Amino acid sequence: MANPKIKSSAQIVKKSNATAGRKPAVKNLYSRADLEEIFRRFSIQRPEPKGELEHVNPFTLVVAVALSAQATDAGVNKATRALFAVADTPQKMLDLGEERIREYIKTIGLYRNKAKNVVALSQKLITDFGGEVPRTREELVTLPGVGRKTANVVLSMAFGQATMAVDTHIFRIANRLLLAPGKTPDEVEQRLMKIIPDEYLYHAHHWLILHGRYCCKARKPECERCVIADLCRSPEKTWDIPAPLVELPAQMIGANAAS
Ligand code: SF4
Repeated sequence: MANPKIKSSAQIVKKSNATAGRKPAVKNLYSRADLEEIFRRFSIQRPEPKGELEHVNPFTLVVAVALSAQATDAGVNKATRALFAVADTPQKMLDLGEERIREYIKTIGLYRNKAKNVVALSQKLITDFGGEVPRTREELVTLPGVGRKTANVVLSMAFGQATMAVDTHIFRIANRLLLAPGKTPDEVEQRLMKIIPDEYLYHAHHWLILHGRYCCKARKPECERCVIADLCRSPEKTWDIPAPLVELPAQMIGANAAS
């Protein structure tokens, strides 16, 4: 039973190079039907999940994601609103200069190093990519301060590619639920990309993050509020009756959350 609001994979999912053409059967605690049902429920809860980092174009998204390492999205947004108002292109960022960039972002952890990276990545975008943000992971990770996770977020949010940027929430959920257990984010990423049904792949990244942030929380999962409590195979679960399946209010969809 597919959610009619979810666009088909043919409509919205452009597979990233790393995952194109794959989807072999993978041994998993969850049956194909379980996986379909889990993501169908997430899609009802949050039909149009959104990333929470504010940006005005692909360049400012790259900068925002690079600034978000070990910082909250809300904290990054607070600093970048003023920064992006004066510098929303690589050239304007270079014109602003490292010292003034530092001033704008000094409330964000590791800001000195991050300011250096913003200057260096702006320079590289101009020198090597004609001032445009490249559209492949291989090119994106050549930018200073941009790792695989940042590249995945940019490919997904700026260019509509189905990727799985494994953050702390996704890493926890994949392991806690035994959905895609792995010792490293890369391992978890590969497993999740294999098991998530195609039609749900594009939004799966945000659904998992938001489920982790608001329900399957780090310290104590709130299983009584969980819509997949009956399907979850986590040894940590404390309840197995699923919560009512309804669309969540806007503040829990993804906009303006605190962490
Ligand atoms: S039932 Fe509990 S442990 Fe399982 S996904 Fe829901 S909140 Fe997490």
